[in-house]
Amino acid sequence: MSMSDADIHQEIVNSVGRYARTVVYSSPAKCVCPTCGGPKSSRPDRCWACQKTIADAEAQGVPEEKLANRVRLGYYAIEYRDRMYKTVFGYKEKSPTSTEYRKTVELLLLDPLVLHFQCLTQVAGNVPVSAWATVPSTSSSRRYGEQHPLNAIVSSIFGQKVPEILLNAEEKKKRRFSKSLFSVSEETIPDDMAQHVLLIEDSWVSGTTVQSAAAALKQAGAQQVSVFCVARILDLEYCTEKLDKSTAQEFREREFDQDACIWGLPPHPLV
Ligand SMILES: [Zn+2]
Ligand SMILES: [Zn+2]
Repeated sequence: MSMSDADIHQEIVNSVGRYARTVVYSSPAKCVCPTCGGPKSSRPDRCWACQKTIADAEAQGVPEEKLANRVRLGYYAIEYRDRMYKTVFGYKEKSPTSTEYRKTVELLLLDPLVLHFQCLTQVAGNVPVSAWATVPSTSSSRRYGEQHPLNAIVSSIFGQKVPEILLNAEEKKKRRFSKSLFSVSEETIPDDMAQHVLLIEDSWVSGTTVQSAAAALKQAGAQQVSVFCVARILDLEYCTEKLDKSTAQEFREREFDQDACIWGLPPHPLV
């Protein structure tokens, strides 16, 4: 990469700063889920979807520690008209506008994968990322069996630096957690390389697919799984209906925070 970190950072600010809403994990009104940054009511610790995933996993004999160790999401994407929403769905299409969207997704991935990559080592107890994986398309997707556009982008960012672990989709996509939704290609797991796997996905709706993939990686021997999703999809109509208007409004008012460390460290200068 010929651009300096400061240049990359500036380009991210220039390209999405005016519309991107940085995901947060707490709020004074206690209406943000600390796991996924999504809306929740003030009473339970986590949002309904995260609670349900944990319960479903437990019912399948998968304790919470066999899910992702940490989940970080880049930006809120509000269904359906929000620009971030269009970006994280549009980049997968084969249309002229998708090229622009793809550039944006690529740029946004440089933040966690390059600019703050060392921060991830730090938050993982000084265990560096030993391998990465993306979530493959399930057989219910029309992209099943093809290389996923996200996989192509992450491959180009990591190059030979970090090995890839391949996940296979075993079942049709489900709306709930399933420990057997994905399997890991054993031959892609290097002996000492499963210590800390970085799992990357474009979007998080309820987290069931990503957590199913995280569980498969742990089942295959990964000691830590860190998740990064570019976008936290928000259905604010549902939020207004199930929670209240002011909670939906809080999310609408979120802004881009150019000083945020994507992996949750306190604001720090880029080295
Ligand atoms: Zn949640
Ligand atoms: Zn950082």
